[in-house]
Parts: sequence; structure tokens; C-alpha cells
Amino acid sequence: MSRPKQTILIVDDQPANIHILAEALQANYEVMVATSGSIALELSQRADKLDLVLLDVMMPGIDGYEVCRRLKDSEKTKNIPVVFVTARSESSEEEIGLNLGAVDYISKPYSLPIILARVRNHLEMKRKTDLLESMVSLDGLTGIPNRRRFDEQLDAEWRRAIRSGRPLSLVMLDIDCFKQFNDNYGHGAGDNSLIQVAGCLAACVHRPGDLIARYGGEEFAAILSITESAGARVIAERLVSDVAALSLPHMYSDVADYLTISAGCATIFPVQGMSMETLLQAADVMLYKAKHEGRNRMCHVELGSETTSEFEVILPSGP
Ligand code: GH3
Ligand code: MG
Ligand code: MG
Repeated sequence: MSRPKQTILIVDDQPANIHILAEALQANYEVMVATSGSIALELSQRADKLDLVLLDVMMPGIDGYEVCRRLKDSEKTKNIPVVFVTARSESSEEEIGLNLGAVDYISKPYSLPIILARVRNHLEMKRKTDLLESMVSLDGLTGIPNRRRFDEQLDAEWRRAIRSGRPLSLVMLDIDCFKQFNDNYGHGAGDNSLIQVAGCLAACVHRPGDLIARYGGEEFAAILSITESAGARVIAERLVSDVAALSLPHMYSDVADYLTISAGCATIFPVQGMSMETLLQAADVMLYKAKHEGRNRMCHVELGSETTSEFEVILPSGP
């Protein structure tokens, strides 16, 4: 399997210096260049993914130390390793650089083979760190975001909704009669259907800020960023009907002869001081209602307006 190329940003006010390094690195990496601190900061905020910054210290305007400080101050860029490549070779300078959070400090004039070896080592370490991070936020069975990732995203979207004064919707989903499925088809088949349901749910949401996570066991959750009631109802209905349309046989279900899920959906206009628990509980109550009213359906509630409206959609019984 070919691995995607890692991206390096070279920052130096002397184009000749950039040229030497870029030339040597281009064969194995994506290379971006910046001739000033401010361009470097702008590029690093805009870049999809940056794996290493090679940073000159002495530059007019924002110098390398300040660039490093600001990279480490920003949530988006704080984990990008920084290597200083500089003519300042005193050990006190090196100490400053490393204390600012740089992973390495290379003095000019440097040996090109040594700088290439160091870059390779730092990038290998970065790849491993990224892998570990993605593993702790993904569910081991289904490969979709896990509960931990869900909690982080809900917190971020909650604060975003408060700032923007826009609504946030949450859908809690639970497979119907899954105990009977496991009891009759076996745990392995159960696991397999969890993987299929997860993939199906994940394919239903597309917007940035939206997230489908495995909440635990046979429960899933969807965060619908900046989504009002009408939109949330459409998505929640689609989540339920798309899983039914998978037509995974479940002869022991009380609901249908295929696997189904129920959904509890809640929409809220959060304001400062309100608790996120309110939204989670409301979605849970709606899930309970959907189960109670026959399963394979979604129930929805809107909170936070003067008139709390409750909504229910009963799906047709065939997939
Ligand atoms: P309901 O329609 O009311 O949701 O009924 P249910 O049977 O789905 O709910 P219940 O909570 O009684 O049972 C959930 C079952 O989900 C029990 C357990 O065997 C199964 N389950 C939970 N996590 C896993 C898992 O990781 N793998 C498998 N195979 N089964 C799981
Ligand atoms: Mg359950
Ligand atoms: Mg269940």
C-alpha cells in the first residue's frame, strides 16, 4: 500500500536557501515554501495537513522564534513539529529554540545528507503520532469515530451554536431487537452487522461539523451541526430508512424480518449557561418514545423555543 506523501513547509527569507532544501526534499515529500514569517503563518493555517516546518530564525518582520511561538499557540498548528535551520549557532540560541517547542535545531552551514536524515526521522515520528491519535478517536470494530471523539465534537459544536446563535441537532440511534440477533445468529454475525450499520450511517452525513459516532454497544449518535428542526428530521428519517434498506435479514426481530434501528432526535438553540445534558437527555427521551411506539422510526423534539413542538414520523413497513 502506498503511503500518502507528507508535507513540509520551508520558511526562509533567502530564496536561495529555500531552493537548496526544496530541491533535495521534493522527490520524497510535498514541499511548500514561504519567504516571510507572516506568509508561513498564513499558509500553516490554510494548509489541510502539514507534517513539518523547517524554519529560519533571522527574518525581517516576524522572526522564526515568533513564528514558532504562534504555531504552538494555535490549536490547529500546535502539533506540527518545527525544526530551526539557522545561522545562529550559539548554544544559548539553540536553547531558546528548543524551549519554544521546536523538535530540533540545525546550524548553517549544514550537511545536506544529515539534514535529510533528520527530516526523515522527524517525519517518521510524526506519522506514528498521527496514527496513534487517529486510533484513540476511532472505534476499533467499526472504524467510525468513537465516544471520546463524539464528546469532543459535541462540545465544539455546542459552543459554535452558542456563538453563532444557530440551532444544533442531535440524533441518538439504537438497533432494534439486537439481543435476539446476537442470540440467534451469534456474536460474530452481530459484530458484522454493526460494521455494516456504521458504514451506512456514516454515508448519510456529509457536512463539515457533522459526525456519526459509535456511542457504545449497539448505539450510535449523529451530531448535526447548525441544523434546524426540518433538516434534522429529514436526516434522522434517512438514517432510519437507509439502515432498513440494507435489508440485513433478522428473522427474530419483533419489528420486521430485517434489521432496523430507532432514532431519537432533538434540536436546540443553545444559549450561554444552558447545559449540553439537556440536549442529550431530550434525544434519549425521543429514542425511548420511538422504541415505545413500535421501533423502526424516529421521534423528534425541538427545545429552547417558547413553543416546544414534538414530532414523529412512522416509516412504511417495507424497506
Ligand atoms: P431494543 O430494540 O429495545 O433496543 O432491544 P435490544 O435487544 O436491541 O436491546 P438490549 O439493550 O436488550 O440489547 C442490546 C444487545 O446489543 C445486547 C448485546 O448482545 C448487543 N451488543 C452490544 N454491543 C455489542 C457488540 O459490540 N457486538 C455484538 N455482537 N453485540 C453487541
Ligand atoms: Mg441499547
Ligand atoms: Mg437495541
